[in-house]
Amino acid sequence: MPPDQAGRTQILQVHARNVKLDADADLEAISRVTPGMTGAELANLVNEAALLAVKRAHAAVSQRDLLDALEKVQLGTARNVVMPDEERRRTAYHESGHALLGMLEAGADPVRKISIIPRGRRALGVTHSTPDTDRYGYDETYLRGRIVGALGGMAAERLVFGVVTSGAESDLQTSTHLARMMVGRSGMSERIGPVQVLPEEGDPRAMGVSEGMLDVLAEETRRLVDQCYERAL
Ligand code: ZN
Repeated sequence: MPPDQAGRTQILQVHARNVKLDADADLEAISRVTPGMTGAELANLVNEAALLAVKRAHAAVSQRDLLDALEKVQLGTARNVVMPDEERRRTAYHESGHALLGMLEAGADPVRKISIIPRGRRALGVTHSTPDTDRYGYDETYLRGRIVGALGGMAAERLVFGVVTSGAESDLQTSTHLARMMVGRSGMSERIGPVQVLPEEGDPRAMGVSEGMLDVLAEETRRLVDQCYERAL
């Protein structure tokens, strides 16, 4: 389980020991905006901030260096490519779809940053949201909201451009995975009931789940995703 806020402050302090911090660097503030980050990610964050400070010829690591490093760690490194206007326009609508639904859906995590700068290996844009506080459990409304938000990019593209592009691939992976978990592991389908029909990993048949039940699992997953997509539209 990822560390809580006090834990994150301690981890940041430990890793910042080998780094010269500027007077304005506020590790406590960084720990407040990083719920869900692991110890390794926090260590990486301090390293990235130190590298940035060197690049910028700062004598010490400033709060700005830490915040810019956080953006890089959370969103991925910006790729140095020029996107055609049409592609950027599409990406802007796609990310806006995620962001709007992220703000409108009850209980969704607040949207922190939207970018249409290509990052990482594949992403054309990114909408980043993180919870306000550490979360330990998720109710059905929240999880449905997550699926609706994940489908928001695809819904926006369909409404504005009338087509669906391969840019929604990782969103579909997210929404399908969430829906399968809700239905097959968390007892959130009335038809399947409060039983687990999906193992943590591996083939459900190995734990005695019948082909008939797998069909129901697929149908229920599809039904949930369909409902969420309708809502997103
Ligand atoms: Zn997307």
